[in-house]
Amino acid sequence: MKPLQILDYFRDRQANVLDLIHEIVEIETPTRDVAGSQTVTTFLERTARTISKSFEIEMIFAEGYGEHFILRTFASGEKPILLLGHTDTVHPRASFKNNPTRIENDKFYGCGIFDMKGNCVLTLEILRLFSELNLKPPRPITILLSCDEEIGSPTGRALVEREARNAAFCLVCEPSAGGKVKTGRKGTGTFNLKVRGVPAHAGLEPERGASAILEISRQIEKLHSLNNFDSGTTVTVGTVRGGTTSNVVPAEAECAIDIRFRSMSEAERIADKIKNLNSFDERTKLEITGAINRPPMERTENVVNLYEKARNIALQLNYDLGETQVGGASDGNFVGALGVPVLDGLGIAGDGAHTLEEYIFIDDIPKRAALLALLLLAD
Ligand SMILES: [Zn+2]
Repeated sequence: MKPLQILDYFRDRQANVLDLIHEIVEIETPTRDVAGSQTVTTFLERTARTISKSFEIEMIFAEGYGEHFILRTFASGEKPILLLGHTDTVHPRASFKNNPTRIENDKFYGCGIFDMKGNCVLTLEILRLFSELNLKPPRPITILLSCDEEIGSPTGRALVEREARNAAFCLVCEPSAGGKVKTGRKGTGTFNLKVRGVPAHAGLEPERGASAILEISRQIEKLHSLNNFDSGTTVTVGTVRGGTTSNVVPAEAECAIDIRFRSMSEAERIADKIKNLNSFDERTKLEITGAINRPPMERTENVVNLYEKARNIALQLNYDLGETQVGGASDGNFVGALGVPVLDGLGIAGDGAHTLEEYIFIDDIPKRAALLALLLLAD
């Protein structure tokens, strides 16, 4: 089968694929919305069954989070290829009112369409291609779509690692970056700093108070001084709150801290600094919680080899597949940390992840589907 014939197959399927994407986007799945999550796994199972009755499908319930979806094509002595993604989105219910699911010119808009429900449909469409054209990929395929990626995969991580450990390599169907695949991702960590001050009446005896807000603002300056954009280390205080009312020296304040890094040694250095912050005013007390969440996905030789393979396939499909390294983490970080070859950001081109402007380019759907299919057939 020639690469361009596979592209033609997906172009012919385009209307059906658009319908399926429309359907999955309309099932709202903010992380922790168990009912929404189960509706989407049921949709995926039903769609998969229209392709083959023999897929082994496993739905794993994660109380309070949703349901993970795993599909295995066939058993064989060969290690499978893992197609990885997630079904949850960052959009609360009813967000679609502000970004209705619709096609306008060459763009298909919808909440979570780019990150990454359109790609959830693609993983199944590739299996449909294999089935309808009777193509036999050399390795079994495992699709894992987790339900809590957007909050750092508290329950999905163990599954991702379990499936990745067994895999020959892993293709992460997360959004591309301006059409480019992701060959490196920073690691992430989140921390929370709580300051306990000493409350006092602002008019009667303010000198007896120790302001938690003053203390936290000094700590925030210190935290920001840890930023080093050249080395890729970033420390961002994303939210801050404190105090009770305007005439009381505030007893409490807290802030949320996001850290990003390119190496584990840097992660440990920064985490250490945060955990060992000391009060400027000794009358205030600091409580620091949190940890490193995802290790960095480094651009190893394994990753580059997989990228080169994908790039060659894209050339046969008449387009150039670029690569980039990004600050955002995904479950691909966990896979990379295990030393398993991984290529991330293979999803449909588009933009506006995590915003109400989210869309994909409809012309890119067949190109991405063909690329993924050929990667699975090539090995
Ligand atoms: Zn995502």
